[in-house]
Amino acid sequence: MSKQGTAPPEPQDFERVLSSMCTVPHPAAREAAERFLATNPGDPTTYQTVAELEREAVATLGEMTGLPDPEGYVASGGTEANLQAVRAARNLAASDDPNVVAPESVHFSFQKAADVLGVELRLAPTDDRRADPAAMADLADEDTALVVAVAGTTEYGRVDPVPALAEVAEDADALLHVDAAWGGFVLPFTDRDWHFGHAAVDTMTVDPHKMGRAVIPAGGFLARDERVLDALAVDTPYLESTSQATLTGTRSGAGVASAQAAMAELWPAGYRETYERAQANAEWVADALETRGYEVVDPVLPLVAVDVPRATVEALRDRGWRVSPTSAGELRVVCMPHVTREMLSAFVDDLDSV
Ligand SMILES: *Cc1c(COP(=O)(O)O)cnc(C)c1O
Repeated sequence: MSKQGTAPPEPQDFERVLSSMCTVPHPAAREAAERFLATNPGDPTTYQTVAELEREAVATLGEMTGLPDPEGYVASGGTEANLQAVRAARNLAASDDPNVVAPESVHFSFQKAADVLGVELRLAPTDDRRADPAAMADLADEDTALVVAVAGTTEYGRVDPVPALAEVAEDADALLHVDAAWGGFVLPFTDRDWHFGHAAVDTMTVDPHKMGRAVIPAGGFLARDERVLDALAVDTPYLESTSQATLTGTRSGAGVASAQAAMAELWPAGYRETYERAQANAEWVADALETRGYEVVDPVLPLVAVDVPRATVEALRDRGWRVSPTSAGELRVVCMPHVTREMLSAFVDDLDSV
């Protein structure tokens, strides 16, 4: 019951949100989310339409990532997808003490996965903010179940050398996972080698609720081989369908339907346009900051990290800018679809005056 005369709370607007990897959903995604709010893709025989939308979403994700016949599902986010990649690799591993080898730049969700699943996470030093295949190979051994590459790191938008890491995985007889949670919707428009078609990639994370403009929660977990999904499946006695490979049980039909709707609307032309605009914005703001004497980490993808004194970051926050630092302390400007040239221009003006 709403109290009379009390306006419902308003969410923040995106006017000054610069460091988030989430954004304004596409109108078609928002509409689909509302329509499918009361559906549960975790029970696909009861909720058949949303189950069909999920198959379409996975097929499109496969197209984006060079996988003509993809296995997978729309997860709650990158964290679940990464956890599932580790879980599948652990379950398929011959070793009873399996480990995961990843670069130091890997997302913190792997810490959670390692903790929950009881596997050792070995982090290799990076080379110029990218995974160093030699350092990763040094950490890999006969107990390595999974090698992780990041295609679009959270802090600097860097793309690991996926083909070289595929060799590291092959030498260790391990699976290769590519975490493209953020980068997956921009990388198709670059000349990078990052996906299933470029190397022997086994599993991938790619999140519609980041650059894909779906509503939260909509992550993506993809696998080349059906064996991977089988390694995750458990029997489901009280549902009509007989097994379930997802981590969650009941899950969001809103997320699934919105992911399908956003991709139906935007793949590929709309996402290409979004990428080109975002990349141009990132290069513009990187230039503007460099001209002012700041040290800027070059935006390989539409994400700029800039070394700004702590006090300046605080002053910008006081002016309403939502900015968060990297672990090394740089300020991150993530050029998400809601970030316009006007916003960036206002941001640079504020930076000049604080
Ligand atoms: C955001 C991100 C994740 C985590 O995804 P959530 O949807 O927040 O759970 C994992 N990996 C990378 C590279 C990310 O940028």
